[in-house]
Amino acid sequence: YFVKGSSWENERLWITGEDVHHISRVMRMDKGDKLIGIHPELGPAICEISEVTSNHVECWVEEWLEENRELPVQVSIVQSLGKGDKLEQVVQKGTELGAFTFIPYQAERSVAKWDEKKAEKKIQRLQKIAKEASEQSERIRIPEIHSLLSFQELIHLTKEYDWCILAHADEARRKSYRPLASILEMIKPDDRVLVVFGPEGGFSEKEVSDLVSAGFLTVRLGPRILRMETAPLYFLSTLSYHFEE
Ligand code: SAM
Repeated sequence: YFVKGSSWENERLWITGEDVHHISRVMRMDKGDKLIGIHPELGPAICEISEVTSNHVECWVEEWLEENRELPVQVSIVQSLGKGDKLEQVVQKGTELGAFTFIPYQAERSVAKWDEKKAEKKIQRLQKIAKEASEQSERIRIPEIHSLLSFQELIHLTKEYDWCILAHADEARRKSYRPLASILEMIKPDDRVLVVFGPEGGFSEKEVSDLVSAGFLTVRLGPRILRMETAPLYFLSTLSYHFEE
C-alpha cells in the first residue's frame, strides 16, 4: 500500500485523513503490517505500522528503497478541455507515464466549457485521479493539476520553460514536418518542457500563429491523426523511451 501526503519526521511516517480509513478498514492492516510510504524528497521506503487508531496510523521506516520513478525531464501537459471524461483519461494515463503537471485550458474550439464552480470541482477530481494513478505507479510525486487557464494566460507561461512545444496535427499532413525525434535530441535531463495539445476540432489558425510567435515549436507525433486524449500519451511514451530505455 502506497501512502503520500502525510507528514514525515525523520524515519517516522504519520498518516491522517482518508488514508487511515483505507489502511485500517479497506486493507484491514494493523500493527506489524508493512506498507510503502513515499517521502517527498527521499522517495519510497518500506515502513512497519506501529499504531493504528481511528484518526491516525503511525509507521517507522524499515528500509529506504532506491528506485526513482520520475521522468528525468519535467513535462507539463497543456490540455484543452474535451468532451466527457477525456481529461480524466489524460490525467490518469499521463500520470502513469510520468507527467510532471497538467494544465487545462480553454481553447477556441473546445466544445466543453467550465464556469468557475465547475472548474473548481473538476480540478479537485483530477487531483484525486492524479493521486491514485501516482500511487498505483509507485511514483514519488503526485502531478499538480493547474487551475484552468485562458489561451492568453497560457501564452504567458512560456518564460518558465526551457522548451515550448505545440503538437500540431497539420504537421502530420505535411511532407516537410518537424519530427518529435529532432526535438527530443535537443532536450536535456532536468529541462522543463511545456507541450500544448488541441481539442477535438484542433487549433484555430490564430491560436497556432500566436503560439508560434510566442516561441512554440510545432511538432508531429507520427503520421496519423490521434485523438486529443491519445496525443499526450504518445508524447510521454516516446519521451520516456528516449530517456529511460
Ligand atoms: N482535425 C483536427 C486538426 O486537424 O487539428 C484534429 C485534432 S486532434 C483530434 C487533437 C489534437 O491532438 C491536435 O490538436 C494536436 O494537438 C494533437 N495531435 C493529434 N495527432 C497529432 C499528430 N499526428 N501530430 C501532432 N499532434 C497531433
